[in-house]
Amino acid sequence: MKVDVAKNLSKVLEQLPEGVSLVAVSKFHPKEYIEAAYQAGQRIFGESHEQELRVKVEELPKDILWHFIGHLQTNKVKYVAPYISMIEAVDTLKLLKEINKQAAKCGRVIDVLLELHIAEEATKYGFSIDDCRNMLKAGEWKQLTNVRICGLMMMASNVDDENQIAAEMNQAADFFDEVKRDYFADADYFRERSWGMSQDYRVAVRCRSTMVRVGTYIFGPRVY
Ligand SMILES: *Cc1c(COP(=O)(O)O)cnc(C)c1O
Repeated sequence: MKVDVAKNLSKVLEQLPEGVSLVAVSKFHPKEYIEAAYQAGQRIFGESHEQELRVKVEELPKDILWHFIGHLQTNKVKYVAPYISMIEAVDTLKLLKEINKQAAKCGRVIDVLLELHIAEEATKYGFSIDDCRNMLKAGEWKQLTNVRICGLMMMASNVDDENQIAAEMNQAADFFDEVKRDYFADADYFRERSWGMSQDYRVAVRCRSTMVRVGTYIFGPRVY
């Protein structure tokens, strides 16, 4: 293995304040890399392709907590529903309903995050803040008793300007406070602010992230 996964992992963990959890993003990396991180104590891993994840789940320890962090097509939900620990990137009400339906079939309640689109890039998925606010206001989600909305997730723009990155993350954090106040004031489980990747996780922890998703910094560049 060319990369010292354990060392990189501990470097990231050192920089995370108390209460911020690490999702080790292992997409496109072989299982040996995941095993190395697992040996070093890491338990939460992030993947973004259903088929790749399915193979890894079969081969790797059963106490790994898998987070689905990519865009999940509704027709793939049924495959991840039996085992997924958290679906981070819920970007439509339709997807939320499908997760609810498949979770019910498995007799589970699945933890999810709502993905916000705040970044300037046009290609990224997610609710605009207005759409998210309207979706929550409409209230249909309250009937979905087999999903548990645990917070918000976002990706900042892929830019060098730290001020812009921080401004986007702070916008998400402010919106989190609004949603918490309006809908989840008494729900302890609504507490996750998932932002920060290899490039910007240090900014993210200053912008109230509770969950960073770091891949390249730990495992090296992905080979597609
Ligand atoms: C790939 C990915 C990451 C990790 O990105 P790195 O730059 O490798 O740290 C984080 N979040 C999401 C949603 C991703 O798809």
